[in-house]
Amino acid sequence: MRPEVKSALTPFLRTVAAAPEAILLVDYDGTLAPFRKQRDQAFPYPGVALILQEIVRDCHTRVVIMSGRDATDVLPFLNIHPRPEVWGIHGLQRMKTDGTMEMPSLDDRTLDALSDADRWLGHQQLRHSAEFKAGSIAVHWRGMSDSDVHDLRSRVMLGWRPIAEQSGLDLLEFDGGLEVRASEADKGDAVRTFLSEISDSVPVAYLGDDTTDESAFRAIEGRGISVLVRPEWRETAAHHWIKPPEELLDFLGMWLRTCSEHPASSKSVARLPVISPPV
Ligand SMILES: [Mg+2]
Repeated sequence: MRPEVKSALTPFLRTVAAAPEAILLVDYDGTLAPFRKQRDQAFPYPGVALILQEIVRDCHTRVVIMSGRDATDVLPFLNIHPRPEVWGIHGLQRMKTDGTMEMPSLDDRTLDALSDADRWLGHQQLRHSAEFKAGSIAVHWRGMSDSDVHDLRSRVMLGWRPIAEQSGLDLLEFDGGLEVRASEADKGDAVRTFLSEISDSVPVAYLGDDTTDESAFRAIEGRGISVLVRPEWRETAAHHWIKPPEELLDFLGMWLRTCSEHPASSKSVARLPVISPPV
C-alpha cells in the first residue's frame, strides 16, 4: 500500500483494534470483486473472501454488504459464516443475518411506472440486457463498444426519462449500466438507518467504488471513514482512495493484523490456552 495511504488509515485501524465492536460496510461489485461481463461470474478478488472470513471470526467486526444486486445474489460469492447482513438494490432491501428480508412496500404509482419501464424495454427489444429486481430494473452494457453503449443508453433513456420524471422514480447511472428504481431509499439512507441502530462509539468504515456509493460516503461523514476502491481516482466524497486488488487486500490485512495484535481484543482473550486450575 502507498505509504501515505497507510499512515492515513492507521489511526482509524487503531480505534478498531481498541473497540469491543467494529463495523465494516462494503459494496460488492467493483469493490470486493472485479467487474465481469457475466454477472454470475463476478467472484471476489482472490484472497478477499478468506480474509473477510477471518475478520468476521477473529476481529469483533460485523461485515455488512451494501450492494446494487438483489441481496440474495451476493452471499453465494462470499460464503462467509456466520452470514453477514446484506443491503440489496442500492439500499432498498435489507436481508438480516437470520435471512429475514425487509423491503419498503411500493405504492401503485411506483409499480405502474416500473411496468411502463419494462414495457419500454420490450418495445425496444432490450429486455435481454436487463436485470429485473424488486422495485428496480437495471440495463447492463459492460463489455460493449462505446458506440453500442451510446446507442443502448439513448434508446433506454428516451423512454425511461419521461417515465421517471412523471412518476418520481430514480434514474441511476452506475459503472456499466443504467437503473430505474423506486426512490424510497438509496445507499446513503441505508447507511443512516444502520448507523442509527448502533452506538456512536463503534468505529465504522465504508468501502465502495461507484457513483451509487457517493451517497453512502456522504452519510458516513463525521461518523466513520469512507474509502473509494477503484483503479483510477475520481472526484469523490470519500476520505481515502485505494486501488484494488492489492491495496484492498492490504487494507483488509491491516484490519485483521491490527485487531489480532491488540491485547484487549476479544480474539486474544478467546485464544488464551485453557489451563486447568490446580487441585
Ligand atoms: Mg460497486
